[in-house]
Amino acid sequence: MTAPVDGLGPPVGAEAPPPSGLSPDGREGSAGTAPTVGPASDFLRDLTEAGLLLETGVPGLYGRSARFEALIERIDEFVSRRTAEDGAERLRFPPALPRRELERSGYLEGFPHLAGTVHAFTGDERAHRALLADLEAGRDWTTRQRPTDVALLPAACYPVYPTLAARGPLPERGALVDVASWCFRHEPSREPTRLQFFRMREQVRIGEPEAVRAFRDDWLERGRRLIDELALPCTITTAHDPFFGRGGRMMAASQKEQGLKFELLVPILDGGGPTACLSFNWHRDRFGRTFGLRTARGEPAHSACVGIGLERLALALLRHHGLEPERWPRAVRALLGS
Ligand code: 5GP
Ligand code: ZN
Repeated sequence: MTAPVDGLGPPVGAEAPPPSGLSPDGREGSAGTAPTVGPASDFLRDLTEAGLLLETGVPGLYGRSARFEALIERIDEFVSRRTAEDGAERLRFPPALPRRELERSGYLEGFPHLAGTVHAFTGDERAHRALLADLEAGRDWTTRQRPTDVALLPAACYPVYPTLAARGPLPERGALVDVASWCFRHEPSREPTRLQFFRMREQVRIGEPEAVRAFRDDWLERGRRLIDELALPCTITTAHDPFFGRGGRMMAASQKEQGLKFELLVPILDGGGPTACLSFNWHRDRFGRTFGLRTARGEPAHSACVGIGLERLALALLRHHGLEPERWPRAVRALLGS
């Protein structure tokens, strides 16, 4: 694997202890140890006390109130308005992908610590009784479950590549896809910016290398304009994904050095640095090769994606303009139609 994508990296040794250090958005640079989850941050407390997020008892897993959801919808519509003229094909997938596609994608080489798979009970009545006995006795009943064919989606764009590959070679102009989904990453945290389930809206460009690179460069500018319009402060920086293991440290350095990932950062939390609200990933021909995705000329296609974290944008707005959207600056309210 040469071009890591959305946390999709080259095969790395997973045997080693994880590197330490913070990634550009202030998260742990890697994992592989049991996550330490501290007390709720002040911002999370503010959000739950304001009734915007609802605690479930599991860090990183929250309910959303009607007011929070209205905000997410308005951000989503704002993105739709700003991308309407691009003429992207709109595709939507469930927050899951065939386990086989996750295995093929290389995600498990780079990010075994973030992946989630769906397990289910497939036993007979005797096995059911054993499961209930385990449950009753407080033993681990989940050993009675088996993995299904389904894995949780780590990034919205993953299903796009095999889907387009199945159509045959791309048209001359390549493809532009608008995709969005709930995503899962096993990163329990008490910071509201780091969720186990969150929504990601993506624009995905697939085709000839020059067109794909131009798309990525263009979006670096467009992303900044979007955030400016929302009256939020931001910086853009080269970034790397939180690869697992000692080998991951090298991969992260190489990803950064080659400029394959950029992040648009907005200060949201009081400590730990600004948070990535948009990510710009250039995969080169990695997905083209992995999924047999070909250009009209028969070459492995290049691809790039821009991922917009909807919850993170909502949190950035709440942080900078206040917890009551009805009192936000008029221009921001007008933009979001609120
Ligand atoms: P990436 O695939 O680059 O890690 O993430 C793409 C985008 O998804 C990020 O720019 C960010 O907006 C969003 N995102 C990534 N991780 C999280 C997370 O833990 N929580 C939330 N709310 N959004 C995330
Ligand atoms: Zn993507």
